[in-house]
Amino acid sequence: LAAAGVQWVQLDEPCLATDLSAAEKAAFQSAYKQLNFGSIKTVLTAYFDGYRDNLELALSLPTTGIHFDLVRAPEQLSAVLALPAGKIASLGLIDGRNVWRSSLSKKLEVVKEVVAKLGADRVIVAGSCSLQHSPIDLSEENKLDAELKGWMAYAVQKLEEIAALKAAASGNADATVKAFFEANDKAAASRLTSPRIHNPAVKDRVAKITAKDSQRTPFASRQKLQQAALGLPLYPTTTIGSFPQTQEVREARAAWKRGELTEAKYEEFLEKKIQETVQYQEEIGIDVPVHGEFERNDMVEYFGEQLQGYAFSKNGWVQSYGSRYVKPPIIFGDVSRPEPMTVRWSKYAQSLTKKPMKGMLTGPVTMLQWSFVRDDQPRETTTKQIALAIRDEVVDLEKAGITIIQIDEPAFREGLPLRKAEWANYLRWAVETFRISAAGVADTTQIHTHMCYSEFNDIMPSIGDMDADVISIETARSQMELLEAFINYKYPAEIGPGVYDIHSPRQPGAEEMANLLRKAVKRLDPSQVWVNPDCGLKTRKWNEVKPALSAMVNAAKIMRSESPESKVA
Ligand code: GLN
Ligand code: ZN
Repeated sequence: LAAAGVQWVQLDEPCLATDLSAAEKAAFQSAYKQLNFGSIKTVLTAYFDGYRDNLELALSLPTTGIHFDLVRAPEQLSAVLALPAGKIASLGLIDGRNVWRSSLSKKLEVVKEVVAKLGADRVIVAGSCSLQHSPIDLSEENKLDAELKGWMAYAVQKLEEIAALKAAASGNADATVKAFFEANDKAAASRLTSPRIHNPAVKDRVAKITAKDSQRTPFASRQKLQQAALGLPLYPTTTIGSFPQTQEVREARAAWKRGELTEAKYEEFLEKKIQETVQYQEEIGIDVPVHGEFERNDMVEYFGEQLQGYAFSKNGWVQSYGSRYVKPPIIFGDVSRPEPMTVRWSKYAQSLTKKPMKGMLTGPVTMLQWSFVRDDQPRETTTKQIALAIRDEVVDLEKAGITIIQIDEPAFREGLPLRKAEWANYLRWAVETFRISAAGVADTTQIHTHMCYSEFNDIMPSIGDMDADVISIETARSQMELLEAFINYKYPAEIGPGVYDIHSPRQPGAEEMANLLRKAVKRLDPSQVWVNPDCGLKTRKWNEVKPALSAMVNAAKIMRSESPESKVA
């Protein structure tokens, strides 16, 4: 790089924002000793949290500069002001992980304070983290209204903010920069007070949450009542909710969105799909059927679109992983549910069968975690608002005759903070919000939760505290290894360890699935065990799903034949 004329190199070391062992710290020291940067200037970069106890180590590494994420960890300003002589400070002031315009005047004050202390030649103005986490260009965004857009900034706009900050801090603010600052501060002020964002009724409801709102009667007594009410066999079979989202389903939705298919025709289409799917589940003998989630484009977007306080962009794509891109919804204001979201479909599906139809909802933490969030209130508050909206839906489902309701929380673990010291606080509110969304129902109503891509070992007490009646998890691929945590913890409620890896087109046979279940009941009580796939079936094809689900039902039958006890007894 030096030979190519490169002057600055950024060394990304995000693990310096995490808890490091003594050995890891020592490895940093010895590795950097081997590096010879020659004439190249370097900036050591970590983000999404502060250096905290790694600060001394970070400062000791032989780099020209050091970057601070002052958005996530503004308290690092004191470390910046106390930088050892010669080190250059990179000030991460513009949030690279969100879509909001910054309040520039406040940021300028910080730059000025640092410049006064360190001198202008030791200060770099920067984004808080890589801009890969931010969509590209807001000016290409034509689906959002002008007021909302006025509050937002994508990567291109964030670069303009950085440039304007630099110009203003170095006394080079021309009329354009001054106008930019003015418009910016005005937008920030209007967002703070807008009635579109602030809904007093929602805030009031959150303020009035009490311990009672997350309390159900103890699981053991609920379980007895549910067993009597539901009359399910031993090893009940179910699925996680979605059935194949075929070309046909996606085309119908697209045609309806374009206005080419009327609302009535689209609903008729969905009813037909539901009817076929319920009948299919009856035929193969699934104990707890689902409606198939055909009406949902995405498990977060579908709900967000029906909630107040959520907006959807047209071009707000960001990289999720590899070549996969997602378009996260934008939570911009207080969240509430104007009317039922899923009741119509669950009720229709229940009318087609005598078996208990399971309703599926996306949980509050996952709704938060897979969206761009407000930066003007704690995540906990936003999640509680979402939890109350979901609670209303749960209660309405119950009123409509749905006795089994699943609240999906696949992103529960993903929300864990980088630093262990913050885990307890996160887990407290993550568990509480789940419980709030679930606790509005009668003891006889069975609450399920579903979590995939998760390891549970270090969060087991919190999983227990969620107090779900049944949890389904992804265990097929790991050959039941993930179940270990539940066994060791002596998880008291019921568990559906996945027996069918839905990420693969491969269809396991009944014996193979029974073998996984035998492994599970070596250590779990058979009366605790449900039989289900790892996750939803939306990415699979019908011709893959059909043989696998028939085999799954047969696996349950094999298990029942091997077991002397009966659940209802
Ligand atoms: N109910 C959802 C589905 O079946 C759950 C998806 C998920 O866990 N990611 O598609
Ligand atoms: Zn899943």
